[in-house]
Amino acid sequence: MTRVSKNQKHKELGFATAAIHAGQEADPTTGALITPIFQTATFVLEELGVNKGYQYARTHNPTRAALEQCLASLEGAEFGLATASGLAAASTVLNILSQGDHVICGEDVYGGVYRLFEQVYKRFGIEFTYVDARDSEAVEAAVRDSTKLIWVETPTNPLLRLADLKKIAAISARYDLIFCVDNTFATPCQQRPLALGADIVIHSTTKYISGHSDVIGGAVLTSSEALYEQLQFNQNAVGCVPGPFDCFLTLRGLKTLAVRVAAHERNASRVAAFLDKHPGVEAVYYPGLKSHPQHDLACEQMTGFGGMVSFVVKGGLEAARDVVSKTGIFQLAESLGGVKSLICHPASMTHKPIPREVREHCGIVDGLIRLSVGIESEEDLIADLDAVLPRQIARKKSGRVSASLSGGEK
Ligand SMILES: *Cc1c(COP(=O)(O)O)cnc(C)c1O
Repeated sequence: MTRVSKNQKHKELGFATAAIHAGQEADPTTGALITPIFQTATFVLEELGVNKGYQYARTHNPTRAALEQCLASLEGAEFGLATASGLAAASTVLNILSQGDHVICGEDVYGGVYRLFEQVYKRFGIEFTYVDARDSEAVEAAVRDSTKLIWVETPTNPLLRLADLKKIAAISARYDLIFCVDNTFATPCQQRPLALGADIVIHSTTKYISGHSDVIGGAVLTSSEALYEQLQFNQNAVGCVPGPFDCFLTLRGLKTLAVRVAAHERNASRVAAFLDKHPGVEAVYYPGLKSHPQHDLACEQMTGFGGMVSFVVKGGLEAARDVVSKTGIFQLAESLGGVKSLICHPASMTHKPIPREVREHCGIVDGLIRLSVGIESEEDLIADLDAVLPRQIARKKSGRVSASLSGGEK
């Protein structure tokens, strides 16, 4: 029997082991193998000023504490906080800042993060500059006296562009800034930003971490005690905490993260290779493809390429609408990272909050389609796409128009 004692440093455990054991010792009061759902709002004091480590469930809850410890362990962080959503995690970080502070942000971040920054925090006097985070020099050039935070997503959503985490961490350190990385796409299974110099990692645990598209959640991880104190203060003061049942579901999903991510990646790399050869496809974005302009950087800072694939279909909006509405296994829905494959049209769905000029400037064109490749059978996924992608129209000598065969076999 494997027993992981409270004192054992989970960071030294293998990733798959930590996902199952870290923070998840058998319940000391009952021996329950799996961390129970502590569905309670408050905790009884033993006497005035003495509690068992828990007092009020907004501040601490044992189910949430197990999730927080496990996530911290997986990211190689000293401290973890679970939040009600990924955007609640982003807010918990932004709430460190004050009026007049400046943030440098990657330009193709998740649409909801952009909306949060532009339509909420801007009203409180926080300033934002958006830069192409592939270009570390552009990040450095945006630093001002009032800059406090650098925020990047890598790989980005939906274009799968990479930011060089080591280089940006060096810039952040040089100017004494806080460097926060949204690690939702890569997961700690394939990328550990704190080890590369980031100060804070955030997640939408709604995605790969929970993995089954059945819960909304987020997390903030750091190894800085000073930052943790401010973040925890914000978590409790603002109150955007997850309920114990949501923490339980997330912990349940998290246990299989290592096997799920491997399966997502296997399917995604096959789907990307298939799309890459398809005549109805104009461009494919997947960091695992050798043709990806930052493939080398992906090999350097990631240990895998993830399960997200984006592509531009030939024929613009009409063709894209056709594809996303006709697939059978790929379901038309926002979100990503679950076992069921999803298809999405960023320009009219996830990235609608971003103005058209900004969107197109970043490459989010009308023909762009994003796939969250699930863990179904690879052949079914490829057949599903092959059946709906536009065929190349080839003109035969007779002058008649016919559809040429495309896809699978090529
Ligand atoms: C979904 C997502 C978010 C927001 O998370 P929610 O859980 O939906 O609030 C933030 N960043 C990225 C990269 C995401 O994919």
